[in-house]
Amino acid sequence: MKVVVVAETREHEHRVALVPELVARLVGAGLEVVVESGAGRHAMHADSAYEDAGARVVGADALDGADVVLSVQPLDPVRVAALRSGAITASFLPATEETDVVRAARDAGVTAFSVELVPRISRAQSMDALTSQALVAGYRGVLVAAERLPRFFPLSMTAAGTVPPAEVLVLGAGVAGLQAIATARRLGARVSAYDVRAAAAEETRSLGAQFVELDLPSLEGSGGYAREMTEDRAQQQRDLLAPYVSASDVLITTAAVPGRTAPLLVDRTAVEQMRTGSVVVDLAAETGGNVEGSVPGAELAVGPATLIGGRNVPSQLPVHASRLYAANLVNLVLLMTSDGKVTPDLADEIVDGACVTHDGAVRHEHVREALE
Ligand code: NAD
Repeated sequence: MKVVVVAETREHEHRVALVPELVARLVGAGLEVVVESGAGRHAMHADSAYEDAGARVVGADALDGADVVLSVQPLDPVRVAALRSGAITASFLPATEETDVVRAARDAGVTAFSVELVPRISRAQSMDALTSQALVAGYRGVLVAAERLPRFFPLSMTAAGTVPPAEVLVLGAGVAGLQAIATARRLGARVSAYDVRAAAAEETRSLGAQFVELDLPSLEGSGGYAREMTEDRAQQQRDLLAPYVSASDVLITTAAVPGRTAPLLVDRTAVEQMRTGSVVVDLAAETGGNVEGSVPGAELAVGPATLIGGRNVPSQLPVHASRLYAANLVNLVLLMTSDGKVTPDLADEIVDGACVTHDGAVRHEHVREALE
């Protein structure tokens, strides 16, 4: 069967869905790998590297005869509509937003997988692209802040005097937040963090950071995720967090609630109370923002601070973001492959969870509702 890796076309997307290093795993399973020319250019992979690894590189007609299409962003609906019935796509696919893509897949009889919907169970860890990309975002967010901050991160004791460490506050200590904490610690900052899930306290402390305890009930929801806050509780939380925000040099926010807009954790007034030169990186800017006024891809002056809104942050480190994402996709494809054929078994919990359209139907109630 022919597995095609497309060149991404959406603005700001620099990742690629397969890296040369992993071509052999698909070829070894009896699959033919075809790569659209230029697909790996931003991730530092030349066409020749894919060819050397055993793939075929083609130009304009890459999708002709495709059985499986791998991409980072969802394929354009026009390209989906041109696929053969029974073809498979695997990519990020926010199915309730990308309704044109979902409709095109349904109508063409395409089996579309959304990596966001891979269940977060132990067996699926190697296919969990939300985790691998959140890891990249958390790391990158801290580096951006460190680069903008007009101060040192580490404590420095020099003959010319002692420089105190930067105070870093991380809000949301999930996958991205924990990586942000670890990165800021490695750079020598004093780090504290807050999350609404009680389990995050132990994980935060194990990285050498302080956990901020607020006098509020836990918001631990099902599956280890956070629940949405009432507006009353949200305001209470913002008020209680404000003094921690104003005492920090760097604020990194990563809070999210699956399927909802990101919770607003920090008012503009709290940012205005920060020290001159402080830096705020809102990694949730694209899903509504944790910080009032943050704009994806923009760097704004808010009082004495610089507020940076994250926009496709994993794509800013395309080499390793692609390497990790490609491994997630290869593991998903191989889960469905036997005897050189990719045949999704919908009785498998992972395949079932991640599959958005199959056999002309949309498979999840919440996605069907979004199409109405
Ligand atoms: P996420 O991206 O949905 O949210 C990021 C963080 O924001 C979470 O820790 C969440 O609790 C926090 N948050 C939400 N509302 C908040 C608020 N009002 N104030 C402060 N923080 C708030 O979550 P994630 O990082 O993808 O993962 C969340 C959980 O899932 C973690 O427990 C993680 O360990 C777990 N997980 C499990 C697996 C697995 O078993 N395969 C894989 C990945 C993650």
